[in-house]
Amino acid sequence: MNRQFNELRLTGSLPSPSAAGLRILELTSTDNFAYDELIKTILADPALSGRVIKIANAANRDGLLPVHTVAQATKRLGVRAVRSAALGFSLIADNRRGTARAFDFTAYWSHSLATAVAAHSMAQVSRFPDPASAFTCALLCDVGKLALACVHPERYSRLVSANAGQADLTLARGEGREFGIDHFEVTAELMAHWGLPEEFQKVALLRAQDPGRSADDAEDLGGRPDLLSLVRSGHLIARVINGSWDIEDARWRGLFLSLQRVGADLGLDLDALLSTCDAIIPSFEEWGRLIDLPASSAGRFQEVALEMERRGGPSGLLATATGAAPEPVEAEVEELSIRDDLDLPLPLEEPPGGEVHTPIRVLVVEDDPQMLRLIAHYLKREGFELLTASSSAEGLSMALQHSPQIVVTDWMMPEMNGVDLCRTLRRSQAGARMHLVIVTACGNDEQVVEAFEAGVNDFVAKPFNPRILLARVRAAVRAIELRERAEAAERSQLRQVTELEIMARKLRAAALTDTLTHLPNRRYAMKRLKQEWESRERIGRGLAVTIIDIDTFKLVNDQFGHDTGDAVLRSVARQLQAHTRGSDTLCRLGGEEFIVLSVGGTAETAMLAAERLRGAVASKAVEHGDFHELVTVSLGVAMTTSDMETFDDLIKAADTALYRAKAEGRDRVCGAGEAAQFDTSIQSDRRSA
Ligand code: GH3
Ligand code: MG
Ligand code: MG
Ligand code: MG
Repeated sequence: MNRQFNELRLTGSLPSPSAAGLRILELTSTDNFAYDELIKTILADPALSGRVIKIANAANRDGLLPVHTVAQATKRLGVRAVRSAALGFSLIADNRRGTARAFDFTAYWSHSLATAVAAHSMAQVSRFPDPASAFTCALLCDVGKLALACVHPERYSRLVSANAGQADLTLARGEGREFGIDHFEVTAELMAHWGLPEEFQKVALLRAQDPGRSADDAEDLGGRPDLLSLVRSGHLIARVINGSWDIEDARWRGLFLSLQRVGADLGLDLDALLSTCDAIIPSFEEWGRLIDLPASSAGRFQEVALEMERRGGPSGLLATATGAAPEPVEAEVEELSIRDDLDLPLPLEEPPGGEVHTPIRVLVVEDDPQMLRLIAHYLKREGFELLTASSSAEGLSMALQHSPQIVVTDWMMPEMNGVDLCRTLRRSQAGARMHLVIVTACGNDEQVVEAFEAGVNDFVAKPFNPRILLARVRAAVRAIELRERAEAAERSQLRQVTELEIMARKLRAAALTDTLTHLPNRRYAMKRLKQEWESRERIGRGLAVTIIDIDTFKLVNDQFGHDTGDAVLRSVARQLQAHTRGSDTLCRLGGEEFIVLSVGGTAETAMLAAERLRGAVASKAVEHGDFHELVTVSLGVAMTTSDMETFDDLIKAADTALYRAKAEGRDRVCGAGEAAQFDTSIQSDRRSA
């Protein structure tokens, strides 16, 4: 046993399972323990029994009948899996509070539960042979943190506060410095201590390594994911679920985008990945109720992905195929600044390189005043912008301040000589680009070599010959101009590429947005409907659509002109949007028709929401120039029913209901099938009754 862990253990403050959990540990510490005793121990704790039965049923992917007793659950899962799961649950039951202020025990368990449920779902879809193990291993994969918080409440609080928002690996380094052991190691030791499978301990330790590195160590598992990647995936998904769900929050968006790695790891294409992630949410909520932990999600995965695409977001998340390199998290941070800028003017062309002449700046450094005047005279005549310095110290400071393109320096000067000046300049960022010419009377071979090694570009011998100096400086100018032109071309090319990318994003966003009302358009509505349709069964939620049509709209166009018609469309769209529930999605279907998609409600809630939209439009006159009129809408609502084969059937049902609303006099809501009992007329009858 690790010495540091032993010290933790001797404090007697390590998290420990409940009485039932301890009894299970004791009972099963030998290989040939009494199976009946295990079942009796679990049965003695009704909450524990319920949870064990639940995990057995959750793992049921082959359509087996649900189990109802602990014995059946044990038969289905195997004794070892039941033992591990019971232990995990009993730990949650007894370790929910502690004195470490900065360590949120409830959030810790809630996050662990989300990790467990996510790892479990991923295990099921990727046909991992033992999903219940993935659940338990993920549930306990950070239990070392809990342990450190229990044993060292004060010190661990300080450490957690100091590392708030940092990655787990950073926290672990801090733990290592503070306690001589990090939470990964504590987790592995505790797992060993409780007799959990060795594989769990391996996972705990491998999590301390970079994902890239441990992938190299992984054995070939024939395409099936291993426990480590399931736990890692579960952890990431849990962080997304418990995160801000705010696309504008770069950190959360980065997490969301790295889900693509999960898809690649588990061999899921993006659609399957997102709908599996969405299916995790209700399951997480259900487990939360069962274990009495806060468990909810502020958003849904498919919705966010589609919204990112609609906004022209990060390089087509939806288009990225499985196995493609995951989006670098930092690379798309600036992307949101251009969203919605569909009318961004095209940037001006950069002036072609070399056309705009700014004179080249030359600095002359020379301690002999007569010589300085002479050199300055010739260079000025050539049209250069001239700077002069009479000592190397002054030369250095002017060079750094004015960034001349060319420096002509004397060699022999007091204090710092010309070669040292060049060497110092070369080390600075600005000086690295300067063309350095040294002038000297004493040019033996050794010195020439020394000068070039110091970074000098060229050499002029004394006695001073103005024609030679000018020839050398002109050559330097040509080299500088060539370089600057190449750099300008490169910049302009880079800008063109960036502009093309921006353009492509804008086009992608435009393809899903209606230009008149800025609502999501028909294409978006159909994509979204298809997604909701496909995942509705798995998620077990109802799906409703409401089709909204402006009444006698043709009259507006005929009497007031097309512009007024457009203004009415915009105004109605705004009014509808303002009264659409946050969980619903309003799109313009085309013409004067709109659609609302609602997930997770009943026929009654969809009808009530539709009635609210109708009332909102009918109660606010549209103002546009001379036009001050009340406009009304008719609405048709339909819920999915078991006999519908495609989502077209759902739209048709809503359309038929809409037709009825028109036939019955407009400005009303009619429902298809069971929704018909909440038609507008019936709703108002009920209100007045
Ligand atoms: P009903 O109450 O039966 O729905 O009558 P309606 O006049 O609203 O129905 P109809 O389908 O006959 O007319 C719809 C009109 O909407 C016809 C078309 O010219 C007009 N329209 C479609 N798209 C636009 C648009 O983008 N702008 C304007 N101004 N008019 C549009
Ligand atoms: Mg000198
Ligand atoms: Mg119409
Ligand atoms: Mg109409």
